[in-house]
Amino acid sequence: MSNDTAQQRWVAAHIAGLPRSGIRDFFELVAKMKGQDVISLGVGEPDFVTPWHIREAAIYALEKGKTHYTSNLGMLELRRAISDYVAGHFGVSYRPEDQVLVTVGVSEALDLAFRAFCNPGDKVLYHSPCYVSYHPSIALVHAQGIAVPTYAKDNFALTAEALRAAWEPGCKILMLNLPCNPTGGTCTRDQLSEIAEFAREKDLLVFSDEIYSELTFEGQHTSIASLPGMAERTVFLHGFSKAFAMTGWRIGYACGPEALIDAMMKVHQYSMMCVSIVSQEAAIEALTHGWDSVQAMREQYHRRRDLLVRRFNEMGLKCHSPRGSFYTFPDITATGLDERTFAAELLKQEKVAVVPGTAFGEGGRGHVRACFATAYDQIIEACDRMERFVAAQLGK
Ligand code: PLP
Repeated sequence: MSNDTAQQRWVAAHIAGLPRSGIRDFFELVAKMKGQDVISLGVGEPDFVTPWHIREAAIYALEKGKTHYTSNLGMLELRRAISDYVAGHFGVSYRPEDQVLVTVGVSEALDLAFRAFCNPGDKVLYHSPCYVSYHPSIALVHAQGIAVPTYAKDNFALTAEALRAAWEPGCKILMLNLPCNPTGGTCTRDQLSEIAEFAREKDLLVFSDEIYSELTFEGQHTSIASLPGMAERTVFLHGFSKAFAMTGWRIGYACGPEALIDAMMKVHQYSMMCVSIVSQEAAIEALTHGWDSVQAMREQYHRRRDLLVRRFNEMGLKCHSPRGSFYTFPDITATGLDERTFAAELLKQEKVAVVPGTAFGEGGRGHVRACFATAYDQIIEACDRMERFVAAQLGK
């Protein structure tokens, strides 16, 4: 349908003003090349199928006739499992009764958080580059996003120094995503402590999207919620999509102080009511028996990461080794191409899909995102093709 159809006049101004996702634009290009042997390092989605025992739990739930609504907060058994997991892995205690809310993926939890806590004009600090949904979510509630740059020289870790430089009166929320999509950047515990100190000093509410925490390859993941005085000002967001390869089940959760979860629940009870009972049953199985599968998938991602990072550096594209997530974020400036031309020409000439870094904000200039949630052999083939493409640009 063209943009000037008569029905456009009914579209709300804040929707009409939203930019199109740079990722979507790019994937429309990829879709046009269907059947042409394209290797995708583009989509941020596990290539693994959800482990069988988790699927089986969902089938069993259906066989038992579990087809009804659940409590708005989510099944108590699931909230207990979430509470145990978060206490065990992150060292933060949340009461299953009123401090845990099961949501339709982290996506819904993010939407609820922005809607529940942003007044028009409130300012939200977020790191750039960042996950594609943050900026539109901020715009949709008429808040103002303040991008805080992260740099390749720091392996894209967010620093308290950069936050202090970006802060201005009216800042209310700090949006964190560690490990980060698209850079794989994380913070050390010391860096995180400095960020926590800044958040306390400026009285910020923190949204902490930790969806990639189980894909941490070196060291221990630390949640900002576990640092002194932070649980009371943090909405902890997590889900099943990445760790358990459950993207299509649409299930995640938010944990936080009762008053904050209650505010999010006020929106959720009307907009979603509850998450699919089948997905909730599967999620209970994942948290109670799924850890061997998580470990096995993490080992595969680790191996793929090492391969992809090594090959990028060998072909002349500087690439740091991400401590977490399943993304690499190489610097492509040596080729003399900008990130959009690089991605478009690589797709056209060698049929490898990567995402231009600016799809994730200005901070992604000069980079592309290449995801390693793809089979090892496919990554080898993609690297051979990219090496040929880069060599041609470098005049080798
Ligand atoms: N947060 C980040 C940083 C992501 O990368 C994604 C998906 O790619 C999401 C949230 C959405 O996750 P979910 O599938 O749980 O909605």
